Amino acid sequence: MKKNDKLAKPYRVEDGKKFKLSDFDPADTAHWHSKKHAEKALQQGVERTADLQAKLYAQDNWSILLIFQAMDAAGKDGAISHVMSGVNPQGCQVYSFKVPTDIELQHDYLWRTTCSLPERGHIGIFNRSYYEEVLVVRVHPEALQKEKTPPSLVDKKIWDERFEDIRGFERHMARNGTVIRKFFLNLSKKEQKRRFLARLDEPEKNWKFSAADIHERKYWDDYQDAYEDMIRNTATKEAPWYVVPADNKWFTRLVVSTVLVDTLESLKLSFPKVEDAKRKELEEAKEVLVSKE
Ligand code: AMP
Ligand code: MG
Repeated sequence: MKKNDKLAKPYRVEDGKKFKLSDFDPADTAHWHSKKHAEKALQQGVERTADLQAKLYAQDNWSILLIFQAMDAAGKDGAISHVMSGVNPQGCQVYSFKVPTDIELQHDYLWRTTCSLPERGHIGIFNRSYYEEVLVVRVHPEALQKEKTPPSLVDKKIWDERFEDIRGFERHMARNGTVIRKFFLNLSKKEQKRRFLARLDEPEKNWKFSAADIHERKYWDDYQDAYEDMIRNTATKEAPWYVVPADNKWFTRLVVSTVLVDTLESLKLSFPKVEDAKRKELEEAKEVLVSKE
């Protein structure tokens, strides 16, 4: 566990004041040199997660919320399916947040994600989240106009206000037993181009291609600025960001899986203890079953 904790630590940001995205290398793989080299560790992470999740579910006190944000083609979907591959689907919920619907726009921007927060004992995954509200909405001001916030409440302070409210919301969740871990999959512009070309060239990847993705790529620098400012303002001890190198998918998965295992380990989970009265009841039940046909 110690070894694993070291693996994720360089990517954890829990105080954003001095955070600079340029300090983080998207191609970093620490001391791991290949997918093959990491295979066993990846498999162990999946098995350990399954084991700990069973206890999380049985104990029914804590919830885990994993938030994923990234540029297109950074590997969010793959990381999510890998990390959850061994988990009992009953204790896990995944939500993907798209362009807000009319009904969602009738509410404040935290409404739709709040409705989808994980129950106690569950692991919830947000594939995109309320953080889009300081990313795509910041990069494209017309998205902000579509939100029906009273115009007198929308001015330059809005981003700082959103950061403050998100910090407050996450603090509230943490104080009530939801453990939040946030992942920014840090992809390089060069690797994004390579993956887009693969989506165009390989028939089985064609379905993933969207012309809108090429359009968003034009705003790359604006997005990087928005991500940097977001992490600076919302990385906290109770809800840290992990800036996960994303140019090698296997390494992204290894880091995310390690964070999840470390997080579950830190909760010191165990199956609920059976009280004496309950134990007596179990023994009596067994006696009845054994003695009768
Ligand atoms: P995908 O995840 O590739 O299916 O794309 C979902 C799209 O929805 C992305 O382009 C997001 O930027 C967009 N999106 C998600 N949340 C919001 C939001 N709150 N406001 C505007 N666009 C959003
Ligand atoms: Mg997409």
